[in-house]
Amino acid sequence: MTTYSEALGMILGAIPPLPVEQVPLSEAAGRALAEDILSRESIPPFNNSAMDGFAIRIEDLRPGLRMQVQGTLAAGQVPHHRVAPASAVRIMTGAPLPEGADTVVPLEHTLFGQDWVEFPNPVERGSNIRWAGDDIWPGARVLSAGTLLKPAAIGVLASLGVSEVPVRVRPRVVVMSTGNELVDVKQHPGPGQIRDSNNPGICSQVATFGAIPCPLPRVPDKRERVHAAIQKAMETCDILLTTGGVSEGDFDFIKPVLEELGAQQVFWKVAQKPGGPFGFWTLNGKPIFGIPGNPVSAMVMVEEYVRPALRQMMGFKDCLRPMRKAILDEDWKKPRPDGKTHFLRVMLQEQEDGLHARLTGSQSSGVLTSMLLANGLAVVEADILELKRGDFIPVQMTEQAEDH
Ligand code: AMP
Ligand code: MG
Repeated sequence: MTTYSEALGMILGAIPPLPVEQVPLSEAAGRALAEDILSRESIPPFNNSAMDGFAIRIEDLRPGLRMQVQGTLAAGQVPHHRVAPASAVRIMTGAPLPEGADTVVPLEHTLFGQDWVEFPNPVERGSNIRWAGDDIWPGARVLSAGTLLKPAAIGVLASLGVSEVPVRVRPRVVVMSTGNELVDVKQHPGPGQIRDSNNPGICSQVATFGAIPCPLPRVPDKRERVHAAIQKAMETCDILLTTGGVSEGDFDFIKPVLEELGAQQVFWKVAQKPGGPFGFWTLNGKPIFGIPGNPVSAMVMVEEYVRPALRQMMGFKDCLRPMRKAILDEDWKKPRPDGKTHFLRVMLQEQEDGLHARLTGSQSSGVLTSMLLANGLAVVEADILELKRGDFIPVQMTEQAEDH
């Protein structure tokens, strides 16, 4: 059976990034930059004052000297005169440094009157000046392709005059629940029925990943209905996620219908828990994830496989969550040797001696509240049968960004 890392490798190997589009800077936050950004300018663009104070030539400074003040420069003004010998120019933060000046002394370190100023404290040459290009040189690569556009990046781009940003198109993700037993969240379930929790849960995962969720109406476990729904979905989506009906039950139609539609199976079934009955196909180059219906499995599979896939489509450089080693605070035993990688829902907490992990309770794939408490997933390799309190275990930091 396909292993977790093989499955992930095959998915990422099959998924190309989506095309590039230009978006206004105001809409770029949270997206991945699609191309390197090189500066054509210096930042700051000119030498300017970092403080409200007096611009002077330090060589003129003598103990007890009273200097003449030549005038005042506000931010946005252009200085027209050099600083005359033994004179000072009153200057505000951000105002261009007048020619000749090499130092700014903050107001609070001076004694001054209407047209004079004295410097009772020692002054260091070049202090309180922001030199042109101190931050960014022309030609410098300021941001590289694949970088998350966080607010600081938006600010830097604005300072460089980049008003349109190349990013990759956000994937439209059709999310389709299948199951005769499912009713809408607004409905009261009848006998044998349950509410469809996967659709809202997965749509919100997709949205938090930065993609566009497109929820479909629930599809009953009828072969023709599943066929029609998938065929229709493929017309509009960039990627399709189905939940339920992907195992070997009498009413599991996802796999046979995809075969009927000519989809290419990349793999079906992964040696992992939760989420084993999971398949991945492509149809006309579009990825299709057949996700098992158990709510915990569904969320874990979306986290483990769909998230990296979407990030790759959106052009992010880092597609996998940060991994850490955590100290396990309790014993754990595999119910039986099953040759599967187990993903344990854990609560992670930073303590003095390092990161600690506690299980969130029942690890059954039907217990969705185990996901509610989890802020990480411990990855237990297939051949590990038990863990002891105090063991170090690898954990995925599922509440931290990949580029953390
Ligand atoms: P399946 O993968 O179709 O065999 O479903 C496995 C389990 O998950 C069954 O107990 C289903 O009732 C449940 N299930 C399937 N789809 C959903 C859903 N959309 N929301 C909540 N539970 C579901
Ligand atoms: Mg089902």
